[in-house]
Amino acid sequence: MTATQYDQLDIPHTLAAGPGPGNTDPRVLERFTACGVADHMQSDVLRGLVECKHMLRKVFGTDNLYTFGVAGTGWSGLDAMMSAVMPGDSVVAFVNGTFSSIDGLTLRMKAATADELAAEPLNPSAASVTVIEVPHGESVNASQIDAALKKLSPKWAFMAHWETGSGRVNDLQGFSDACVAHDVMGLVDAVSSLGVADFSIDNYPGVAAWASCPQKGICCLPLTYAPVSFTDRYIKALQTTGARTFVHHPLLEARHWGIVDGADVEQGTYHRTHSAYAVAAFHEALRLAISEGISERAARYRFHEAAMRTALSALGCKVTSNMTSLLVLNLPEAMAGKEAELVKRCREQGFGIWTTLSQPIQIRIGILNQLERKAVCDIVTRFARAMSQMQNGINPSVAVSALNQYYVTHQETAGAAA
Ligand SMILES: *Cc1c(COP(=O)(O)O)cnc(C)c1O
Repeated sequence: MTATQYDQLDIPHTLAAGPGPGNTDPRVLERFTACGVADHMQSDVLRGLVECKHMLRKVFGTDNLYTFGVAGTGWSGLDAMMSAVMPGDSVVAFVNGTFSSIDGLTLRMKAATADELAAEPLNPSAASVTVIEVPHGESVNASQIDAALKKLSPKWAFMAHWETGSGRVNDLQGFSDACVAHDVMGLVDAVSSLGVADFSIDNYPGVAAWASCPQKGICCLPLTYAPVSFTDRYIKALQTTGARTFVHHPLLEARHWGIVDGADVEQGTYHRTHSAYAVAAFHEALRLAISEGISERAARYRFHEAAMRTALSALGCKVTSNMTSLLVLNLPEAMAGKEAELVKRCREQGFGIWTTLSQPIQIRIGILNQLERKAVCDIVTRFARAMSQMQNGINPSVAVSALNQYYVTHQETAGAAA
């Protein structure tokens, strides 16, 4: 068979203003392209992995020895985190949107018995898994969590920290407290919150394992590593049961990061091939996060999210989210039902915003790594202009004035955040 000779693939630059991926810093891309050809056991590559491990402990705010990266995206880290969940394990999963719902599916796949999985291979019901559904747009709260864990006292509980489908922040403190109170091992999807929110995982002792991603708060789209962190308790549980995976096995994967037999060693040993380009890019992204400071970055997200919220409200949009990297909104009454069309129009112009991925259809606009007045103003202007092109009576200058007003009023109190 003769293959078509395609042209070289050109991908244009767009403004990634969605829930993720965020705009990767040019310094990260520079490290990516400046990296030499080197294999995964070359000494600087191994040193880079070990340094990344130490930086990740800082970014997570943890002394957990088993803290490292899983090659791939958020789901790769989550899969490694859930690898200790065995068929028949009792699990309570709190689900309040697109992503936690997929996490719930993963947990059902892992905890299903062989018969349960065979009965419905792509969407198994597992008698040992209880999914607590919280409506779109609402946060999972402490009393829901406590009531469910008290009643069911499962081996594992799961929650997304920030549910990116609806932009809602769930109660991490309540989750951890309930896990401690009812002696449950908590599993948390921190894909959207790590590197955006100001938190140290060691302050949440009920949570036994955490998983995040490279391309949201860590701002490293050249797909690199999904950060994960496991407490000693999780590791002990895993040592007892084993896991049905080689590649995503937390104990085995950790070896390449220089964590061998429960101790840090100077150099990692082979687990899988690592890309020197990925290591170099990830290393730089972590260096940038640490040099800026996690709490400083979190403050800048809060500051600019509030700016954007002010501008969108001035346009008559209703923001229903409370994450600081993402705004989820309804259009003004007169434009209701036009969300998908508006987003399509924006995306065709290289302005990458999103709708929700499950019902109800809302618009999602993100500010990952857009933490400057100019960048926020660009996003607001493009969005307001697109709205005005679809609807008479929408005046983009209303949004821009509201935004300018916000920045002028808040500049003094914001200090470095501006
Ligand atoms: C983005 C996201 C995921 C999926 O991550 P990928 O990097 O696409 O694999 C999972 N959970 C949450 C909360 C997310 O925001």
